[in-house]
Amino acid sequence: MLVLKIVFWAGTAAQVIIRTPFAISARSRNKTEQHGSQVENILLVLLTIAAGILPLIYTFTNWLTFANYSLPAWLGWAGVIVLICSLLIFWRAHVDLKANWSPSLELYEGHTLITNGIYRYIRHPMYASQWVWAIAQILLIQNWIAGPASLILFIPFYLLRRNAEEKMMLEKFGEPYREYTKATGGILPKL
Ligand code: SAH
Repeated sequence: MLVLKIVFWAGTAAQVIIRTPFAISARSRNKTEQHGSQVENILLVLLTIAAGILPLIYTFTNWLTFANYSLPAWLGWAGVIVLICSLLIFWRAHVDLKANWSPSLELYEGHTLITNGIYRYIRHPMYASQWVWAIAQILLIQNWIAGPASLILFIPFYLLRRNAEEKMMLEKFGEPYREYTKATGGILPKL
């Protein structure tokens, strides 16, 4: 359905609009530590292909038509709602993390530990929003290649990134971060 493709691309545009001001302010901050790895960079490139290039090919060519599937209309509309949820979490996480956001694992001069807003409940709301996005992509981009691509790649990326990030944060902030991890969930709030 054309409308589902339009929603997917509108959502992608919304992500870019939400992130751009934070990406600009991140560029002007002085970095004190960089912990990104080669494997992580490769996965980031593959994720860009999965979330951007494959859906582009699916939307604008018939190269992937052989792998199309067709879900009931209500599941497509469920995909729209799931995508909106993803964007709301993505937006809230950026607002709360402020200038501490970075594309790869980095710490800035005067980096503060954020434990309020959505970070009061979960440590990784941005990654949570990407999980939710990956589910929306399966419902909106109805193709066996371009649909599940984000989910398949996000699994190794998330596991690698979360472990490395929590190790970095623990080394930097020590006991307060340990307490923070005890009080919060990763991508789902602690009951
Ligand atoms: N994992 C978080 C943040 C992703 S952005 C999320 O999913 O929302 C990645 C950068 O955010 C890391 O390089 C780290 O410097 C920073 N960061 C992660 N958690 C933070 C926190 N609670 N307070 C401040 N900075 C944090």
